[in-house]
Amino acid sequence: MSAHATRLALVAALLAALALPAFARSPRPATGRHFLPVSVSARHCHLSAGDLAALFGAGHSLTQRKTLSQPGQFACEETVKLVGPRGSLELRVLGPTRKQSQVELSATEARTLGLGKVPVRLSGALEGTPGVKLEGPSGSVELESGLILARRHLHAAPKDARRLGLRNGQLLSVRVGGKDGVVYSGVKVRVDPSYKLDLHLDTDEGNAARIDGRARGLLLPKR
Ligand SMILES: [Zn+2]
Repeated sequence: MSAHATRLALVAALLAALALPAFARSPRPATGRHFLPVSVSARHCHLSAGDLAALFGAGHSLTQRKTLSQPGQFACEETVKLVGPRGSLELRVLGPTRKQSQVELSATEARTLGLGKVPVRLSGALEGTPGVKLEGPSGSVELESGLILARRHLHAAPKDARRLGLRNGQLLSVRVGGKDGVVYSGVKVRVDPSYKLDLHLDTDEGNAARIDGRARGLLLPKR
């Protein structure tokens, strides 16, 4: 081997010694990098069977327009009008019917309609929430409660929770919208066999991260 070739070999060996350990670490850090599917939910309502009948007429059943990310949930052809002190908005009805009606708005929409302070709640946690007036083609209802800003949450099936090392009720931080996006803390994990992995944000949150419809989020390690 010439002196030149020996030097080259030495340089190559040195480079390999320096570069390899870093390269070996980079693709998958010890904690792992996990991306989560993200969906932005526009304002909508869920209706009880009684409120559906009052708004659309006795015997009316919901017409499915589009399936949603969570199995069994669907957006309907039906819409209702939410009437607030400073204006009104059309709301998409989501099916199937539920035990209690629920209206989910963004903070911007609630403020625009003059609805005052609306609490941030997980779906279904409606105790002590304000009511709101809804109008349908066949009548109107004054809900006594059920108006919420949806708390950001991650739906996960038990197998996804195991794979990601998550527990039901845990809070996560997730970066949404790439490196110029937004870190959402306090994302509540909800584990149920009927769920499909999906992080749900409202339109204010999606707009803040400059995303629309569907995106993905990077699960950040616990600090
Ligand atoms: Zn959800």
